[in-house]
Order: sequence, then structure tokens, then C-alpha cells
Amino acid sequence: MKNNFSLKFNIFDILIAILAILISVSSIIIVNYKANSNGDRIINIQYQNTSIAKINYDELKEDMVYVIKKEDYPDLYGDFTVEISIDKGVRVHNITCPNHTCEKYGYISKKGKSIVCIPNGVIVSIESESIDDVISVG
Ligand SMILES: [Zn+2]
Repeated sequence: MKNNFSLKFNIFDILIAILAILISVSSIIIVNYKANSNGDRIINIQYQNTSIAKINYDELKEDMVYVIKKEDYPDLYGDFTVEISIDKGVRVHNITCPNHTCEKYGYISKKGKSIVCIPNGVIVSIESESIDDVISVG
């Protein structure tokens, strides 16, 4: 009889543990939902004041590289590489640029931040999700 009692007690313990896990998981989901309701971060890549790509940063599943090619945009000094890292943020790297100021911005990841390359006419900014169509790249 004593054995039975301790077995029941263990199952009850496990049920409480499962309940605790469920509560913590659901609170994480609620926090994530609230973050999303404020709007995802959209990486807006502009060339000469025209948006050429919008990437939903918060829905990105893996790191990616977006290259603005000189063959498509002849006024560029060279191919323009935007590196998007889920952990680190967004940066421009290995840019053919007379002053390399753009590369000195380093990584940006917060809404309202932007990287500007005046010589190449490129702006990479992180914005709030808007009603505009978001083109999913990658
Ligand atoms: Zn530059």
C-alpha cells in the first residue's frame, strides 16, 4: 500500500512539472505574440531613394546575403553586399566605396537604425512592418 501511495505521489509530481512547463511555454508564446503585434522588423534596402528589396528580419530562418549587383545598377562602384545575420544584425561588408564609411556602421538590428552609403546611393534601414507589400527574399 505504501508503494502505491508513493507511486501516485510521483505521478502527481510529474503532472505539476508538466503543468509548470506548459505555463512557461505559453507565457513565452504570449510574449512573442506581443512582440509581433508591435510589427516585425523590416530590412528596407534602397538604391537612389527607391526601395529595391524588403526583407522581414523577424521571420528570417537563417543568415543570408543580399547582393545589389553592379550589372543591374551601373552607378554602383561595385557589387554591394548586405549581410544579414540573425544573431548579430545587418551590416554591409567588402564594399567598393571611396570612403568605406558605410562599413564602419557595423551591425545594426534595431528599428529606426540605418546604414548609409552616399557614394553608392544605398541606404539599408530597419523599419516597422507597414502595409506596403513585403517581398520575402530567401
Ligand atoms: Zn560606402
